[in-house]
Amino acid sequence: MTERKRILTGDRPTGKLHLGHYVGSLANRIRFQHEYDSVFIIADLHMLTTKNTPQDIAEIDGNARALVLDAISAGIEPDNVLFYLQSAIPEMAEINTLFQNMVTVARLERLPSLKDMARNANIEMPYGLLGYPVLQAADILHVKAHLVPVGRDNVAHVEITREIARRFNHLYGDVFPVPDFLSEGGTLVGTDGQAKMSKSLNNAIFLSDDPQTVAKKVQGMYTDPKRISADIPGTVEGNPVFDYHDAFNPDKAEVEDLKTRYRAGQVGDVEVKGKLTTAINNFLAPMHERRAQYEESGLIEEIIVNGTNEVRAMTQATVLEMRKAMGLTGVWNRMRRKVERRQKKMMKE
Ligand code: ATP
Ligand code: MG
Repeated sequence: MTERKRILTGDRPTGKLHLGHYVGSLANRIRFQHEYDSVFIIADLHMLTTKNTPQDIAEIDGNARALVLDAISAGIEPDNVLFYLQSAIPEMAEINTLFQNMVTVARLERLPSLKDMARNANIEMPYGLLGYPVLQAADILHVKAHLVPVGRDNVAHVEITREIARRFNHLYGDVFPVPDFLSEGGTLVGTDGQAKMSKSLNNAIFLSDDPQTVAKKVQGMYTDPKRISADIPGTVEGNPVFDYHDAFNPDKAEVEDLKTRYRAGQVGDVEVKGKLTTAINNFLAPMHERRAQYEESGLIEEIIVNGTNEVRAMTQATVLEMRKAMGLTGVWNRMRRKVERRQKKMMKE
């Protein structure tokens, strides 16, 4: 797994993946896994910035497992990529510490995303949350990633990674690549048609939902509220049912026909939603098959543990390189040598 350009991406282990994650990031990850060397972080240390009770922590294993199972079910090939558990690599903390002085507090305080995260989690800004982009720089740079897929809300964070990499290289010599952005997919609206699909807003269809659950969620979907009966012409644009048809129904002719009839008031919601249910279930069916295979094999934990061990070796190499470049290794070696010389001298006497 060398030579090729490396991507670092991943998720906080806060729950199952839904269709929004698929559209926003998973589809690209699946597409890029052959072109790039892909490393996926299970970012549990990042989760701690907003959720750190013992109960939250007790949920990490289950959520990490769900995350990896969802990704593999959707088409990530575990032999081609590395998954790793962030908190299982203690050297991350060291890199984080060494990076903390490459960025100013004022720079971090200017990021609106961190204040949003604190507000959404209903907490006052912890020190760790202010430092979220610094730890994220450590995540990206410890494996020397060249490319980071980002959604709009994360561009500013990766900009900080670039600044930290440049600052480090300027002070201590060329150690890190300055990573580039790779644009992520679009945003998928939730079944409520009001906000983006989000697991905490009760508007999500999960990749692991069975056909009956999908049918129920689609039946309850928000559509054009002006359309109180099937013969009233409806609006297709911004209508989540049609957004989903566009995203998940491969039968484009069927989708165009439904749109035409919907605009003309010639089709009922039952038909539009019925066909959408079928499309989403067809889309999820192969995922359920792969999920069943992997669930039975009991391989998920092994994939995480092996990936973590492999990534940790990279982290250790990077830390060593950083310490040498910074001169810290030299400080320690000089001190040790002095002590050794003195002890030798005393033994001779
Ligand atoms: P929560 O409700 O806890 O915020 P969530 O379902 O919104 O969870 P996150 O963990 O916040 O999921 O999202 C992780 C990443 O997944 C986001 O940064 C974004 O890239 C992507 N993502 C999440 N929801 C969507 C969506 N509806 N459309 C596109 N991308 C999404
Ligand atoms: Mg969210």
